[in-house]
Formats: sequence, structure tokens, C-alpha cells
Amino acid sequence: MSLRATHKSQLQDGEFDVLVIGAGINGAASASALAHRGLRTALVDARDFAGYTSQSSSNLIWGGIKYLETFEFALVRRLCSSRNLLMRAYPTAVRETRFLAAISRTAPRSRLAVWLGAWLYWFLGSCMTRTPRLLSRDALKRAEPVVDAQVTQGAVEYSDALLVDGDARFVFSLVRRAADAGCVTVNYLNVVHAERSGEYWRVDLLDNVDGGQMNTRARVIVNAGGPFADPLAGLTNVVTSSRHALSKGIHLITDRLSAKSRVLAFYADDGRPFFVIPLGNRASIGTTDTPVEIPTMTVDEADRDFVLRNINARLDLKSPLSRSDVIDERCGVRPLAVDRREKGDVGGDFLSLSRKHVIETDAGRACVSIYGGKLTDCLDVGTEVRDAVLSLGVVDPGGACSWYGESDTGIRNVFLAKAQLIRDEGAVFGETEAERLWRCYDSRALTLMEKFEDEPDTREVILVADGITRGELELVRDTEMVVSLADFLRRRTLLMQTRGKNELAGPAMMQVCEILFGSEASVRYQEYFGANSNEEA
Ligand SMILES: Cc1cc2nc3c(=O)[nH]c(=O)nc-3n(C[C@H](O)[C@H](O)[C@H](O)COP(=O)(O)OP(=O)(O)OC[C@H]3O[C@@H](n4cnc5c(N)ncnc54)[C@H](O)[C@@H]3O)c2cc1C
Repeated sequence: MSLRATHKSQLQDGEFDVLVIGAGINGAASASALAHRGLRTALVDARDFAGYTSQSSSNLIWGGIKYLETFEFALVRRLCSSRNLLMRAYPTAVRETRFLAAISRTAPRSRLAVWLGAWLYWFLGSCMTRTPRLLSRDALKRAEPVVDAQVTQGAVEYSDALLVDGDARFVFSLVRRAADAGCVTVNYLNVVHAERSGEYWRVDLLDNVDGGQMNTRARVIVNAGGPFADPLAGLTNVVTSSRHALSKGIHLITDRLSAKSRVLAFYADDGRPFFVIPLGNRASIGTTDTPVEIPTMTVDEADRDFVLRNINARLDLKSPLSRSDVIDERCGVRPLAVDRREKGDVGGDFLSLSRKHVIETDAGRACVSIYGGKLTDCLDVGTEVRDAVLSLGVVDPGGACSWYGESDTGIRNVFLAKAQLIRDEGAVFGETEAERLWRCYDSRALTLMEKFEDEPDTREVILVADGITRGELELVRDTEMVVSLADFLRRRTLLMQTRGKNELAGPAMMQVCEILFGSEASVRYQEYFGANSNEEA
């Protein structure tokens, strides 16, 4: 029985303390916090884990330097603390990264003002990162020749952090963490009906893989539906004082534009910060901020024009970037928390809407709803949701083990020593691959090394360019609930965006499918690479 089928059978007719609906960053963090407390927890998503907004962010863990412009010092202080907490808890997966902000001559702020702002930001961030640096136009040209320094006043360099293996992988690490604490986690399971009856919610679920229907019961539900939180509130008849305003944001993926592993930052034409962000061996350029009425995942021509026009105007490239340089695209919808009563119309105020989160508790209907939130403040969301659920009278098992973070350095050192031994025996993965394995699989990477020892044929490298072995694929198959090839290429790894579809197709990918999907390999391969493919699904 596959891991997904096992978890599904536990959900069917099960009785839980909490059902978390939505496995984006907010649902995943909440589920892990609840499960580690000892509550009987289930987590479901209509798509794959991180299958919606949380796979399309800028991958930044940041204190929100831009909110200094709207004088939201408390928000910046809080986001910086959240960033610092994540950097400490995930010393390898959340990496301090330098941001080189080129200040154009027409920017709304002077270079000195931005520099002072960067120092304030550094202080608000408890001085945890490297200090800011002011660069003249000539220094900028020397530091980053790809930036068109002529159109700038110079630059300011400061630090924030980056999710090295991407947002979706980070979300999955929390899903896995929840599952390790006993949480029942199932992807592609859509909540279609929920009804309060006595002490319990009775919830009907539709399996988006095989069309099957099932139900389960939970004392409390957590609405972590992100951009779908409002329809989900309607479905559960829960009235909230917050609602979501939606903002579409896109990124275009191209070859790396700079030799350095830092973020290039600019002000776009609309006055918003605009970035070139390292994404594996590629660059992710964006983003946009467009009010939308419904969650949509489509990049349109206007989005592409905006990104290409803005980046070409700011870089000094041999030839301007065009659509043919775009390897892949990302499109997401920010769910922004808005107070229903105070902000009926947000039209004029859209770009400056605060990106804070709101947790609402409806004691009468035993429902906790999450509005807003960012990847950066996911640990606060998890803790607040856990406390809100406990406030609803669920018996508190009092579990106290940590619900997030990488395993301690002792385990990491054992892993690194084993990896070194296996390398000495001639295995073809290098030091960077070993680091990647640790970042992605944490203590499961140690299990992988043991597998390499016991079954040397699992060291066979299947995807040579990325050092992905048979053993790693088997680990993914057995522990990561991969349903489609896109789950693996887009969300468990960055391959879809860093390699591009054409480069991925071929016999090696068919071998990947054989390991991940067994007798369904050809179907899954065709689903992704065939004429009618749906790459995101
Ligand atoms: C372009 C862009 C850039 C961003 N950059 C950053 C950044 O750099 N740093 C940062 O901190 N934040 C960033 N954000 C914000 C951040 O990505 C989002 O706030 C966050 O991912 C939202 O997570 P979520 O869990 O609320 O929503 P989602 O990730 O959308 O998760 C909600 C889930 O609920 C599921 N769902 C909905 N209804 C049902 C149902 N009926 N049954 C079952 N499941 C259901 C959906 O399938 C979905 O997977 C960015 C956002 C965008 C769009």
C-alpha cells in the first residue's frame, strides 16, 4: 500500500481533534504545531502539498524592508524576528543572502535615504545579519557589471534570507514533520462539504486522483485555504471579520544573469521593489502586484511585458531578454488580510496593504481561520493557530517537542561523516550534493546513507546533472506522497524550473518514472510530457 493510501485509510471514518484544510505554508505549519502538541491532527489539500500560492513566491525570508516606506515599524520588527527565528532553526535551508539594491536616478528615495533605511532595518532585525554597505555608481559597476549603473545613483547592499531549495520544498519539510508526529496528511483531497453535528464537524472529501468520496470527523477545523479561505468560510458557514483581497504576482525564470549568488534589487516602474533572485542554477525575475477578483494561475502577456521591460531597462545586457529566454514561469495569488468592516474598498490602497496575518477563532462553530500571512511568519502562524485550537476546549495533551527546524548538528555531523565515507568508496555525489541531501531530507538523509551502505546499487545516479540517485528517488517514493511527475519536478525539487521541460524529457526521466510510479510510469510520463499535459498538476 502506498503511503498516501495508508494515510487516506486512516482518514476515512476517522475521528480527529483537528482537521487542517489547506497544505500551503500556513496549513503545514499549523499541522506540525498541532501534531507535535499531541493533538490527533489531519491535514488535507485539494491539490498537492504547496500546490497553490506557496509554490509561487519569491522564495525570500525577509523582514519586509519595503514596509519601512509605509512606517510599519512594528510589522518590520515582527517579520525580522520571524526571519531570524527561521534562519536559526534552519541554518542550511534558510540562507542569509546579500541584496544589492540599485537605486535609479528616478527612484522615489535617494541612495542615502535607502542606506539609512537599511541601517534601521538592520537594527530592527536585531543586528543579526551582515551590515549594510553603500556603493557609489562606480563601485556598483565594479561589483555587478550586469547592472546598468549609468541609470542609477549607486546602490545599497544589505542582507535578508533565501529558501535555498524553494518554497514548496520548505512547505513539504513541515508536512513531513507533521506526519512524523502522527499527523494524517493527504494531498489531492478536496473538502466539498462540512457540517457541524454535536461536538464534531462531519467533513465530506473528494479524492481528486480517483474521484472517490469519503468522510471524516474532527472537533475543530482550521481554515488554511489561502486565496480560497473566503469560499471555504462560506462552505462551513463561518462568518469572519476579515476577508482576503487577492493580488497576482508572477516571476519569469531565465539563465543566471549574475555570476554572484546574490539578489539584485530595483524599484520597478510602479515604485515597487523588483528582484533578480537566484533559483538553483537559474534566475527568477519579478514580481508583479496586480489586484484580481478570483485566484488565477495564469501569466498573461501584460505580466511578461512588465517584467521584461523593467529588467531590460535596468540591466546592461549584450542583447535584451526576450520571451525566448524564459525557461519557465511562476504565478501566484497573494491572500492579503483585509478587515471587512473598515476596508470595504481597497482599490486605491492596494500596493501598500499590510502583509500581516490574522487568526480568527469562532468558538461557537469550533473553527480557526487564517487570513494573510507570509512564508516568513509561518512559525508565528503555527504557534498562534495551535493556541487558538487549544482555546476551544480541546483536551491539551501538552506535548512539548519542537515542531520545526533542522535536526541538531550532532546528527548532521554523523550524516556528513557517512556521506564522506561513501564518497571515499567512489560514489559520484560530491560535497554540494551531500549538503543538498541534508537540506532536503534532514535526518532522512542519514537513512539514505545507510541505504547506500546496505544496497550499493541504490547509489546509481539517474539524473546526472543534478546528482539524483536511485536511492534518493526511492526515498521520495516511499516518504513523500508523489502522485504526479509534476509533484516531483515542480514541488519536491526545483528541476522543472531549473532545467526546463525540453531538457528533462528522455530516457533518464522515464527511469525516474519507473522508480516513482512502477507500473504507471508511462502514464505519468505522458501526463507530463504528452501533447495534452498539465505541468502544474
Ligand atoms: C508572487 C508572490 C511572491 C511572494 N513572495 C514571498 C516571499 O518572498 N516571502 C514570503 O514570506 N512570502 C511571499 N509571498 C506570500 C506567500 O507566498 C503567501 O502568503 C503564502 O504562500 C500563502 O500561503 P497559504 O498557506 O495561506 O496559501 P496557499 O499556499 O495557497 O495554500 C492554501 C491551500 O488550500 C488548499 N485548499 C483550498 N480550498 C480547499 C478545499 N476546499 N479543500 C482542500 N484544500 C483546499 C489549496 O489547494 C491550497 O494549496 C509571495 C506571494 C506571491 C504570490
